[in-house]
Amino acid sequence: MQTGDGVRGDKGSRLDHWLGSYAARTQGMTASEIRALFAVASRPEVVSLAGGMPNLSALPMDVVSRSLAGLVDTKGSVALQYGSGQGDPELRRRILDVMAPNQVTAHPDDIVVTTGSQQALDLVTRIFVDPGDVVLAEAPSYVGALGVFRSYQADVVHVAMDAEGLIPEALSDTLIELKRAGRRVKLLYTVPNYHNPAGVTLAAHRRPQILEIARRFGVLVLEDDPYGLLGFDGDPLPALRSFDEEGVIYLGSFSKTFAPGFRVGWAVAPHAVREKLVLASESAILCPSSFSQMAVSTYLAEHDWKHQIGLFRELYRERRDAMLQALHDMLPTSSWNNPQGGFYVWVHLPDGLDSKAMLPRAVTARVAYAPGTGFYTDGQGRDYMRLSYCYPTPERIREGIRRLAGVIDEELEV
Ligand code: PMP
Repeated sequence: MQTGDGVRGDKGSRLDHWLGSYAARTQGMTASEIRALFAVASRPEVVSLAGGMPNLSALPMDVVSRSLAGLVDTKGSVALQYGSGQGDPELRRRILDVMAPNQVTAHPDDIVVTTGSQQALDLVTRIFVDPGDVVLAEAPSYVGALGVFRSYQADVVHVAMDAEGLIPEALSDTLIELKRAGRRVKLLYTVPNYHNPAGVTLAAHRRPQILEIARRFGVLVLEDDPYGLLGFDGDPLPALRSFDEEGVIYLGSFSKTFAPGFRVGWAVAPHAVREKLVLASESAILCPSSFSQMAVSTYLAEHDWKHQIGLFRELYRERRDAMLQALHDMLPTSSWNNPQGGFYVWVHLPDGLDSKAMLPRAVTARVAYAPGTGFYTDGQGRDYMRLSYCYPTPERIREGIRRLAGVIDEELEV
């Protein structure tokens, strides 16, 4: 067979015969460090504090099972058929209720249902970003978003955060510098609530400030909010989108409040943007899964989903407490933040330690974490690691931190 650079003869070889044929954009597609870890970290003897898998132990599987069976019995001919490219109208109406606590108001027509919010990240980037455009992203940022930006050949520029989230002065300084350099900034990507990986939440008083700066520089804000309803104390803060309907695209997901296996997320976007998103989605997938959307819709209609989110919150709070206590008891040489919701603690290691180099030794000691470097595009993060408390039991969390403390102590002795 003729290939990009010759003739293929050696059947079964592991050489890539198509090396000369790939599009330039694939150069930005690298395997995430976290994905590579999954195989090792999922061995039962390893305490994995690495992945961010939602904990489904609180989900009433019998309720879900009955409603799935009922769905096929009563609406199978619709649920198993192609559907609207924008998403099931019934689900889009119900999504309005789900966004109400974060004060996002919209019309069902403003919503585009996607295959998880991951697809929404892809679609937004696809319609806005040309190679070489700048995307601003928090330092650190969600690894899956960085992967999307890279795959569209965006130039990711990180903006500093502190304990109150993205720093407005750092944002405006970065934008002034980029403007001086003649760079085109297309998007500001932010996870304002219970950040992945940093665990911090954008303070209420900063929200209008960030929007004012973005507006002044003509930058569209991409607000990614999969954890917004998983706060442990008090009411959720108003979403950025609730202050500005033209300047913000809001992304939501059922992955953390129901189940990720359905792969249902959504984008709320200004009218004209929404039309482009639908066209982009139709060309990618024709339509989101009818079955998944109707399953989510049925669950929302028949189950007390707010109560269920309350159960998830309690489960995660208990695990957050266990992790913070274990860190306090066993990692006196490190520092970390105190997440008020979500899944993650961001740990700063003692001087001189390198979380990426240390990982193989940690895995040998049967504990895994996500090294900080994966959450930056510029090589920062060696002195940080992300610990997830969402999945293991409190006892396993404590055991994992005990093993981690042993590894860190050994590193410090070398
Ligand atoms: N954004 C953030 C910040 C995430 O943490 C995740 C999943 N870990 C996603 C988006 C993607 O979620 P999904 O596609 O399952 O909705």
